Amino acid sequence: MNRILVVEDEPALRQDLVEYLSLLGYASKGVASCRELIEVLDAEAAPDVVILDVGLSDGSGFDMARDIRGRCDCGVIMLTALGEREDRITGFDSGADLYLVKPASLQEIRAGVQSLLRRLSNPAKPGLNEAGTWCLNTVDWHLAAPGGKAIKLTATELSFLTALFERVGQPCSRDWLAQAIVRPQAAADFRNLDTVVNRLRRKIRQAAETDPPIKMIYGQGYIFSAPCRIEP
Ligand code: CA
Repeated sequence: MNRILVVEDEPALRQDLVEYLSLLGYASKGVASCRELIEVLDAEAAPDVVILDVGLSDGSGFDMARDIRGRCDCGVIMLTALGEREDRITGFDSGADLYLVKPASLQEIRAGVQSLLRRLSNPAKPGLNEAGTWCLNTVDWHLAAPGGKAIKLTATELSFLTALFERVGQPCSRDWLAQAIVRPQAAADFRNLDTVVNRLRRKIRQAAETDPPIKMIYGQGYIFSAPCRIEP
């Protein structure tokens, strides 16, 4: 049974998360502070996934993520009210695998946990994807198709795909995506979003010779409809 540790100082949210994850069949436990987290890490077998609130009463989740990384190989999901791009980057720099902005739905958290556990139980060999998974490399800006073909991305395409991949399994509204790809000092624009999506689909179709898994769900937005993960 996979073990999940929830670090959250808001008691109701902590309890909801632990109960929900237990219902899904995970061995789940909640702690409220950095101090308790360290006690559990010292005393018990390493969890498979830690869901980590950023704003804790006795320290920062970002620091804790680094600490966890130094101790064990588990997955780290940052859960935070901070939605700014800089915070997201700090989250990844500190060792987070996934970054969810509150209020993240329970379904979104479930999707994150499941995709992380799949990845951890099935580590990718360098240069090879696990079957059927699309990989987004955010360092050298490319999308690797399941067959291994790499598609070089522009900054806008990278922003768009990062937004979709971070919300795996959930449609992202066009409104939200148009904001995610907007350049500084420019206004969000649906036409621009649709142009980006059409160009990206064409690129994927040509380079990977497969149907691009970027789907439009009427009234809801876009979704990446295949297994995917973000690297590194
Ligand atoms: Ca908090």
